Amino acid sequence: MITLLPDHVANQIAAGEVVQRPSSAVKELIENAMDAQSNDIKLVIIDSGKTMIQVIDDGTGMNEADAKMCFERHATSKISKADDLFALQTKGFRGEALASIAAIAQVELKTKTKNSELGIKLCIKGSEYMSAEVCTCQKGTSFTIKNLFYNVPARRNFLKSNRAELKFISEEFIRIALGHPEVSFSMFHNEKEIYRLPKETSRQRLVSIYGNNYNTRLVPVKEETDIVKVSGFVCKPEFFKKSRGEQFLFVNNRFIKSSYMNHAVQNAMEGLIQVGYHPSFFLFLTIDPSKIDVNIHPTKTEIKFEDERHVYAIVRSAIKHSIGQYNIAPSLDFSLNPEYNIMSTGQSKSIKTPIIQVNPDFNPFDSESKKNVVRYSSDKNVKGTHWQALFEEMQDDMDSAISEAPVRLTKMEEEIQDHQFVFQIKNRFIFTQIKSGILVIDQEKAHERILYEKYLQNFLDTMVVSQSLVFAKEVLLNKMELDLFNEVSDDIASLGFDFTTNETGITFQGTPANIPNEDLNEMVLDILQSFQENKKSWKQQKEKAMAKKFAKRNAIKLGRNLQTEEMNQIINELFSCEMPFASITNKPTAIVIELNELIKRFN
Ligand code: ADP
Ligand code: MG
Repeated sequence: MITLLPDHVANQIAAGEVVQRPSSAVKELIENAMDAQSNDIKLVIIDSGKTMIQVIDDGTGMNEADAKMCFERHATSKISKADDLFALQTKGFRGEALASIAAIAQVELKTKTKNSELGIKLCIKGSEYMSAEVCTCQKGTSFTIKNLFYNVPARRNFLKSNRAELKFISEEFIRIALGHPEVSFSMFHNEKEIYRLPKETSRQRLVSIYGNNYNTRLVPVKEETDIVKVSGFVCKPEFFKKSRGEQFLFVNNRFIKSSYMNHAVQNAMEGLIQVGYHPSFFLFLTIDPSKIDVNIHPTKTEIKFEDERHVYAIVRSAIKHSIGQYNIAPSLDFSLNPEYNIMSTGQSKSIKTPIIQVNPDFNPFDSESKKNVVRYSSDKNVKGTHWQALFEEMQDDMDSAISEAPVRLTKMEEEIQDHQFVFQIKNRFIFTQIKSGILVIDQEKAHERILYEKYLQNFLDTMVVSQSLVFAKEVLLNKMELDLFNEVSDDIASLGFDFTTNETGITFQGTPANIPNEDLNEMVLDILQSFQENKKSWKQQKEKAMAKKFAKRNAIKLGRNLQTEEMNQIINELFSCEMPFASITNKPTAIVIELNELIKRFN
């Protein structure tokens, strides 16, 4: 009763797992080109891959025998025995991609090795050889896949719109291109060039793909241990995205999906991630191939680490370290496992990390500690509600941050507690009690953040309102200063300043509404100085730069004694901010000392 399935049927079944859509074929073909040591890879698609996919490489090519062999199931040049699975240096090893693709499309292969004069051209359709002939071609290999799923109508009908399929293809293309900046890539869709990526560094590759402004967003991550090497970049928190689109983890240059490692990153950035936002990162792990298993799923995007917990802790610690060095996080951390508390390298000499204590008993993997993540909301609906209720909302456990679950923001009003116990110490820090412990706020940094967001909003409002001065104010400038001022006068007017200029200086008739009176003389000189330092960035960032200046100047300073009402107001306003935990110079504004931590320390 039992018979063996004919090869073409078996191949078609395997294809169901390996080739789900045009982008899967793109992935397999580009990976093969990578494995063939190519230096330049070109992807050409028509109709989002539904009509045609072509991958042209300048790699090793194949001789005639291999070219005929490569479409057989389990035909691979990459491994020959089971042990090889644990020393993988190649993307492929299962020998089923080409067999699968050939079972469900029309394939043309042209290939030539370095040493042969002529190449070979093979046509195959639905697993059947149509023709084989010699041809002239460049060294390397070109695969052309036409009419994918022509004989699997169910799959074909299941495909999404051209736009969606193109997006999937771009994603696969980017994943491989990001992992291999040492190879040049190009991509064309319907004869239009989509990407052209020269051989470059990984930072340049990111910029080539995502645009120039990424250069300043990236914070480098680098750590080497015996277990794993970590390198790459995380984005600064203010550039986090609402989608998870920019989360890239590569293990030995292979793009991997791992919610466990994403969790490590997320955990390292606790307190910096706003509700509804996701950290952007591009991380490369290098690990001994015998310590991982990628042969879990036919698409090879999942992985098992032998030493999962250590890798987690190292990744987390590496990111925390670089965030700390680049001053973008509240760096008080009770939860850092001292084993992985990688010491500063000394490059960060100007940076003081306010570490209070490290808990030697901390276990980053117990469920308690997963609750450490502080999140906060930028949702406009919650503005003006009581901060305490808000804060409790922020302390959701990590898992819901990981899942795509919508943000929970309900019944704020009901949770409001009217009476708050707040006090100030050393005319500098505001202390108050929250459900999970003690909140400590730096009064000056917090107030700067509050004013900055307020002023920035003002400047960005499309209707800039200028407020007339009772007495016009004159600012005297010399010739050079005046010339400089004339270069920025339009920008300054657009912020809500009202003025006229003459040979001796500027006369101000009005200043932006809602911004306290300024020493205009000092302000103009300030502007001119920062403009001169970097003209282009000043023009692009003028609103931010001005808001920062004004905030710095008008904020409550250290050393000022505060009334209870004032402290409550600061707390309320701080937690209505979009980025309550980050000061305008990317230092912490507030930190939490957890009750659990206090209890542990007294034991
Ligand atoms: P795998 O990549 O798992 O080995 P594939 O079915 O993808 O299996 O490819 C089968 C074999 O065909 C590869 O092992 C390789 O020897 C050869 N091959 C495929 N693509 C290329 C290419 N672009 N250049 C050179 N050889 C290739
Ligand atoms: Mg392959």
